[in-house]
Amino acid sequence: MNIPRKIKQIIEPQFVIEGAGVLLRRSFGPNRANLFDPFLLFDHFAFNDPIEGPIRGFPTHPHRGIETVTYMLEGNVRHRDSLGNMGVIGPGDVQWMTSGRGILHEEMPRRGPSGLIVGFQLWVNLPAALKMSQPRYQEISADSIPMIEDGGARVRVVAGEYSGVAGPVTEIAARPLYLDVALDGGAQIHLPLAADHFALAYVFEGEGFFGMEPDRPGEFVRAVRMLVLEDGNTFSVRAGEAGVRFMLMAGAPIREPIFPYGPFVMNTQEEIQQALLELRNGTFVQN
Ligand code: FE
Repeated sequence: MNIPRKIKQIIEPQFVIEGAGVLLRRSFGPNRANLFDPFLLFDHFAFNDPIEGPIRGFPTHPHRGIETVTYMLEGNVRHRDSLGNMGVIGPGDVQWMTSGRGILHEEMPRRGPSGLIVGFQLWVNLPAALKMSQPRYQEISADSIPMIEDGGARVRVVAGEYSGVAGPVTEIAARPLYLDVALDGGAQIHLPLAADHFALAYVFEGEGFFGMEPDRPGEFVRAVRMLVLEDGNTFSVRAGEAGVRFMLMAGAPIREPIFPYGPFVMNTQEEIQQALLELRNGTFVQN
């Protein structure tokens, strides 16, 4: 039986400054209330003005206990870390970084030819059993992300499955679905969602009706807004005249207490103190 997901909450992203002066739109950040379980943070960098050089961007910082998912649409992010990894996340590319017990890295956004930088970073929690696991990267280039086109809808599948096509990101504890959905004016889409998943839709271009039901038009939403969805197993959207583009993110809640502190998200305050101690005494990163 189809149970359409409706809109539970509409969040207006707030401008915040992070790293060395990068202006971001933040929908939510890590909080002990853990209201978005398994997700911890969602940032949209679209209006920043970084310059070449070491000053702006996100200079070396640690992470422990989380996964960070970086998805670029325009411009790129150069990254480099304490394990010797180095690379560039370009337009359409995704980096799914499992920090596990710890990495130190820097992330430096750079303009694309258009002069713009547009990208997203999502943080996904790790269950207690995996917080101290080996760090891992999944780097996915734009051409290996499948796109499904159907009746004015274009869906890029980063993680999870849509219409029988699986995305390239695998073996993530929260079994996430991460889709980039673009609809032409007036086009509709019905997206199946696991009933036990928490789900979000981030509307970043255009406008449309979200959370349609057979007898109701859904809620009219104009970019830029984060939508928190009610429970259900399907989510329906119809684009307004100018079309709409949004990210659909869903994942299995982990249902554990969290204790966030900056770039660390652990389960207890003691584990945070341990991380800070290791940073001070130089044992945070273990190759
Ligand atoms: Fe980072």
